[in-house]
Parts: sequence; C-alpha cells; structure tokens
Amino acid sequence: MKNNITGLFAELFYPSRCMVCQGVLSPREKKYGLCSQCKKKVSVIKEPFCLKCGKKLFDDTLEYCEDCEESRFGRFFSKGRGVYLYDGVMREVMYRFKYKNKRYYAAYFARQAYFLYQRWISDIRPDLILPVPMYRGKMKKRGYDQAECFAKALSRVFDIPNVGGILSRTRSTLPQKGLSGAARRLNLKNAFHIRGNLVQSKSILLVDDIYTTGATVDAAAEALRDAGAAEVYCMYICVGNGKRRRKK
Ligand SMILES: [Zn+2]
Ligand SMILES: [Zn+2]
Repeated sequence: MKNNITGLFAELFYPSRCMVCQGVLSPREKKYGLCSQCKKKVSVIKEPFCLKCGKKLFDDTLEYCEDCEESRFGRFFSKGRGVYLYDGVMREVMYRFKYKNKRYYAAYFARQAYFLYQRWISDIRPDLILPVPMYRGKMKKRGYDQAECFAKALSRVFDIPNVGGILSRTRSTLPQKGLSGAARRLNLKNAFHIRGNLVQSKSILLVDDIYTTGATVDAAAEALRDAGAAEVYCMYICVGNGKRRRKK
C-alpha cells in the first residue's frame, strides 16, 4: 500500500523526468518520457519485425524470426507486437520500472504503443486486455505487478476493458533464464488458471513486460484458448531481436 501511495504522489507532484538519464523533461518531451537526446538511444520497434511474434528483424527479406519459423503453427497466440527493442538502455529503464517503483513509466510505454499500433489494434479489435499475471507471493513482496500496470495504461489509451483476476498464476515457476526451450515449456505447464467464463469466444490482448522466447505468453495463451478464447494476441513493452543465431 505504501508503495502505491508513494508512486502516485511522485507522479503528481514531481517534475517528469527522462526514463533514461533522469533529466527533467520539457513539456514537449513529456509525452513519451524521453528527452530529445535519450530518444535517439531508445529503439522503438519498426519494420521489419517478425510477422508472428513482433521481434525485431535486421534482414527485410525475412518474414519470421528463427523461433517462429520453427514453431509458427505450434503457437497458441495469433500474433504479438512489442514496443521497444530490449537492449542496453531499455534494460536499465525496465529495471527501474520493475524494481524501483517507476510504475508510472507504464503511461509512457502505452502512449508509444498507441503511436505504433493504433492501426493494428483497430484491425484485430480485442474485446479484453489481460496481463500475464505474476505469482501472488512474488507480487506481495514487490508491491505491484508490472504487466498489470502496462495493461491498465493500454486499457486507457486504447479504450479496451482490462479485467483483473481472470487469469492467475497457480504456482511459482522457476526463473526461465538458463532453461532450454523444452524445459521452459515444462516449467510453465499448467501454471495458469482462468476464473469464470469471461474469455469464452472473446478476442484477448494478452500483455506482458518482456518477450524473449515466448514460452510464458504461449503458456498463458494456451490456458486462454483451453478456456474458449477465440483469439489471443499479445503485446509486450520490450522484445528482443530475432537475429538468426549462429549454429554452434
Ligand atoms: Zn534523457
Ligand atoms: Zn517471431
């Protein structure tokens, strides 16, 4: 609770600061939370990106990243889009957003998402926005759930309902880092639960903070599809690049 209040007051009374260098922003720079210098250091996702998951591609002759090329028909979500490339500068921003109570960054991320994907959203027309939930124990410790903050901000800019408590995490999972693809899927198996029948026949926009291999959103999408969701699309704040990995 304390965290909530501090976050709110910070947003209301302190001058807006750049998400990267923490410098005070001019009224014009306020919209996206970046000063004109740092704006150049942040990469927002532009074409070419993977048509399936939205990962940045550096070769415009490709349509899909390597992961999606292999598993495109095995995924449970239809399409996903990311807002920023998850690189050096954005790693620092995401760290502060997740662990340093900079939850108001969510509004900047959502405005940028609106700028990039307004058209896409009006094409796919999701009925509901749902965040990929954090395990309750973890959330209690941290005080807030970053994916939920982003989902609420997106709900405001796109005017699509965001309903809390439908999708929940039934158990804590191991950190995904360092696990192989198969181990990641096993780690997430049955980790999500859907309450009630609100997702039935609905098109869902599933929201998460960072997309790497897609195992987490895919496991959540599988649970939503099992519960009768018609389509599951995804949106994440940051996405990696879909560069072809060199064979070992
Ligand atoms: Zn700056
Ligand atoms: Zn992809």
